[in-house]
Amino acid sequence: MSEGQGRHFLQIPGPSPVPERVLRAISRQVIDHRGPEFKKLGQEVLEGSRAIFKTSGPVVIYPSSGTGAWEAAIVNTLSPGDKVLMIETGHFATLWRRMADRWGLTVDFVPGDWRRGADPNVIEAKLAEDGQRAIKAVMVVHNETSTGVTSRVAEIRKAMNRADHPALLMVDTISSLGSVDYRHEEWEVDVTVSCSQKGLMLPPGLGFTAISQKAIAASKINRMPRSYWDWSEMLNSNVNSFFPYTPATNLLFGLREAIAILLEEGLDCVFARHERLAAATRAAVRAWGLEILCQTPSEYSPVLTAVVMPAGHDADQFRQLVLKKYNMSLGAGLSKLAGRVFRIGHLGECNELVLLGALSGVEMGLAAAGVPHRAGGVAAAMTELGAHQADATPMRKVAAG
Ligand code: PLP
Repeated sequence: MSEGQGRHFLQIPGPSPVPERVLRAISRQVIDHRGPEFKKLGQEVLEGSRAIFKTSGPVVIYPSSGTGAWEAAIVNTLSPGDKVLMIETGHFATLWRRMADRWGLTVDFVPGDWRRGADPNVIEAKLAEDGQRAIKAVMVVHNETSTGVTSRVAEIRKAMNRADHPALLMVDTISSLGSVDYRHEEWEVDVTVSCSQKGLMLPPGLGFTAISQKAIAASKINRMPRSYWDWSEMLNSNVNSFFPYTPATNLLFGLREAIAILLEEGLDCVFARHERLAAATRAAVRAWGLEILCQTPSEYSPVLTAVVMPAGHDADQFRQLVLKKYNMSLGAGLSKLAGRVFRIGHLGECNELVLLGALSGVEMGLAAAGVPHRAGGVAAAMTELGAHQADATPMRKVAAG
């Protein structure tokens, strides 16, 4: 699309659009990462990140993608041959499992159909069976971005406590942090993994691990080699608000601004806005007569909705048409869902009218692609949003710039 034809609609479930305020915060001269100005920035982002993860403990920030933070979680806490319990919720759980295999862990991978979240009862049963306490970690993806299913982490923690099992709990919040209620400390999570380019509304390039004291204790005795990802050097430097190697300074300027935006709106309001937009999206999908991939209403994702394409129609061709005709990017089906689903992202810098624009593009695209559906999805979404009128977000400062 050329300039002057309106803006691109980036409706994939991350990277998500970056607010103007964040873009402006990033767009400035680099500073000395060992100087006094950086020390203030380091202090603010390390402190601010704790508020977002809801922890009083350390949050380590890497110049990396989320995959790097996955690796940091593994190499800092586990030893080759350790047994871990993982749940097949979708593509990203499968990739994390592959990484665990490569690091020589023995993975008990509970199979799943990619339509529901990690079942706390299954986790409890697996841990109860583990009389030898061989399982060293339970590793789950909070929001499975490939399927639009959000696992119930608080219930998983309760299940682990009921089994009275000492395994570490590690949670991937890569596509949930800053969009879905999450409480690292209250839920006694040991390692929370996340990244910058989704709910935090930043460009890609920062990876995070929030760490419990139990995880730090594990990192002192585990036997996995690491250097770049080593928590101890990070934590030592972070005490003085510095980093052991060159940090992604300008992304940290952006992080400081993004945290301010989230806290100005209030995290509870941010989460409620995501819930509203997700409910409206599901209302549209149902009105079109299409199927939502997620099978469990209590696990519907506030971040994205994966829509099953009717048999005989290719979701990727549909997405290409929508991109070409309406300048909107929708999320692709990943690995075994390729061509079978498309994903609508409704996270981060998104409000009612942005969502309705996106849903209009989907509805027009369905008609243009000859996909069997009923009209009226956008109207159904408007009705759903109208039902929540009292909570509707007034024009956020972020949108007004
Ligand atoms: N985990 C989840 C749930 C994701 O959605 C993604 C990426 O979309 C990843 C892990 C991998 O993160 P990254 O691509 O930043 O390395």
